[in-house]
Amino acid sequence: MPNTITASTVTFASLNLAEPIMRAIADAGYTQPTPVQAQAIPLVLAGGDLLAGAQTGTGKTAGFTLPVLHLLNSRPAPNPGAGRPRCLILTPTRELAAQVEESVQTYGKYLSLKSLVMFGGVNINPQIKSLRGQVDILVATPGRLLDHVGQKTLDLSAVEILILDEADRMLDMGFIRDIKKILALLPKKRQNLLFSATFSEEIKTLSDGLLNNPGFVEVARRNTTSELVAQTVHMVAQKLKSHLLSHLIKHNDWKQVLVFTRTKHGANRLAEKLNADGIPAAAIHGNKSQSARTKALSQFKDGTLPVLVATDIAARGLDIDMLPHVVNFELPNVPEDYVHRIGRTGRAGSNGAAISLVDSEEIQHLKDIERLIKTQIPRIAIDSFVPPTHIPPEAPRPPRPQHGQKRHSNTTARPPREGNAPRDGNRPPREGQTGNRAPRDPQTRTQTPRGPQTAGQPRPAQKPRASQSTPKPQPLLSEAARHQAMPQPALFSPRPAARRGK
Ligand code: AMP
Repeated sequence: MPNTITASTVTFASLNLAEPIMRAIADAGYTQPTPVQAQAIPLVLAGGDLLAGAQTGTGKTAGFTLPVLHLLNSRPAPNPGAGRPRCLILTPTRELAAQVEESVQTYGKYLSLKSLVMFGGVNINPQIKSLRGQVDILVATPGRLLDHVGQKTLDLSAVEILILDEADRMLDMGFIRDIKKILALLPKKRQNLLFSATFSEEIKTLSDGLLNNPGFVEVARRNTTSELVAQTVHMVAQKLKSHLLSHLIKHNDWKQVLVFTRTKHGANRLAEKLNADGIPAAAIHGNKSQSARTKALSQFKDGTLPVLVATDIAARGLDIDMLPHVVNFELPNVPEDYVHRIGRTGRAGSNGAAISLVDSEEIQHLKDIERLIKTQIPRIAIDSFVPPTHIPPEAPRPPRPQHGQKRHSNTTARPPREGNAPRDGNRPPREGQTGNRAPRDPQTRTQTPRGPQTAGQPRPAQKPRASQSTPKPQPLLSEAARHQAMPQPALFSPRPAARRGK
């Protein structure tokens, strides 16, 4: 049974990290360790194994990177040599690998330790070249790592510390065999850290075989949403969604919006539509080249691209500081993915808004999500939205899996590898606690945010409000409004007991 310690009011100063690391932490603007850092750092510094339940967004990366930098910096490499990393960090996805290595560089910038990131989908030669020099910390996805091992360009026999980051996602993605192969290549005596958002039986089996009397930390319950995220739903017909989204972005002057679509084609179509509306947008998904994904992501991060449209897989593991808006263009098929998606915002203490555009056909998905997060998400009417008078017919959309059917790119045991991504996929965050706040957007008026809970009472029908501007609302608006006014007994009032005929 792992030891459990509780979080306290730990300061960075009390953690006894080396001065160059403290300077980098100060440069990053961190004033206090997050709970996972407060708990994990002392355990890692003490040299023990660690089992940590923490999601992206909790500061977990610094939770393992800071003490690892300290440890490697404070002891000389026993067997120094080119291409012989002392610390190996495995991640499920390319994006996460890149982000983790970026963190290693950020926190280790005043140290002489060298880091390298390697993942598939890109030319292997620059990685081979880098392996001819000093590499202290290697961040890698399993597939490409094994490619290097096969080519004998990488020697894992000097690894002192192994970190499995987002281990549950690695298992979800079918990496267990790769992980086992990699473990067999490592020295027996080493420190092991395992980070996972969830503790399934598979994770337990993996950790039992891997970890030796580990310390245990856990900082967030699964399937909870951050109270820093204001969640709202706009009921709107599918064919109006892109128009409503354009309107919301322009009307509210949103500067950085991550939009989730259900399909890659849907992501492309939406990005095209937004661009046609004068809103610069790019789609990222597995059919895009790695360079296109990297470019879109960096433009989105630096603020030059206001809208990134992504499938769940492509967006997983993305850490974007202070992302203010996440939009669910379609609700995910699997309720847990809603939590992962909206975990992209409201991170590291900043507020965020998660907006879901929901067609009447998605009501059951909404209901499942609300049951999971134990929260009723306020429905908000957008008074200022006037739908276009003519909407070209939609291209046919692929059907959703049957309700309750777990066919989903992120949750199946082995999801399809995206595009040219060889064996790398992606993973999400879950964090914080359930919240149900009114939107912070002053221009979006709240419509009956269902105050002291109306569960058990029918929701009053709401008339569509007339737009201030002429022309008059078109029939399509009425359609959107009908959704709003539509009786939703399944959501807000007890379902009448089903009568079973004899
Ligand atoms: P992670 O969970 O590792 O993906 O980190 C989420 C975000 O939290 C990153 O953008 C970090 O830069 C940020 N972060 C990590 N540690 C701290 C801290 N102690 N104080 C403030 N922000 C932090």
